[in-house]
Amino acid sequence: MRILIVEDDEDLARQLQGALDDAGYTYDYAADGEEGHFLGDTEPYDAIILDIGLPIMDGLSVLEKWRQDGHKTPVLLLTARDSWTDKVAGLDAGADDYLAKPFKMEELLARLRALIRRSSGNASSELTCGNVRLDTRNAKVTFDGQAVKLTAQEFKLLAYMMHHKGQVISRTELTEHIYDQDFDRDSNTIEVFVNRIRKKIDAPLIQTVRGLGYRLDDPEE
Ligand code: CA
Repeated sequence: MRILIVEDDEDLARQLQGALDDAGYTYDYAADGEEGHFLGDTEPYDAIILDIGLPIMDGLSVLEKWRQDGHKTPVLLLTARDSWTDKVAGLDAGADDYLAKPFKMEELLARLRALIRRSSGNASSELTCGNVRLDTRNAKVTFDGQAVKLTAQEFKLLAYMMHHKGQVISRTELTEHIYDQDFDRDSNTIEVFVNRIRKKIDAPLIQTVRGLGYRLDDPEE
């Protein structure tokens, strides 16, 4: 899952980056509204954390522009404390949720999980496929009840597939959702990761769809 952070407060941005890293997300970062708007317009994110008060272009204008252009990426808006007008304006501009500063990082992560879950059509924070379970709350995976050790990249890849179970996902799509914009992307490494994951879980769960990509098949559905 790849997240965009648009926040001009450097300390807070650093805290957000650390928390997202620890929670198993990939992220890109913009410190002003113009760059933030550009990234959200051109890169595929699973969710966006957007501050309202930003240099060059304010957060509400950024959000309105994205929505006018048809971008449906879930947006969590960071508002000033006690500003109910910000919250109302934010929701009207197309925000999916908001959080007033200062906030607890745990709450931000929980709201982010909920946004990603809803936009991918999953009701529970625990995703299952056959005997594989992925708990999005602690980024842990089990197979047949046993903990599965995954590298950070393997986890990101499996988490994306678990959120989009039953759908054909191309290597390009996987690449875009597990690497940030600065990473030297090579979609051939996706196959390596998929094969490593197959060795750690019930291998037939990840089907290769010739010429198209991969699909996570749930034998119980
Ligand atoms: Ca700000």
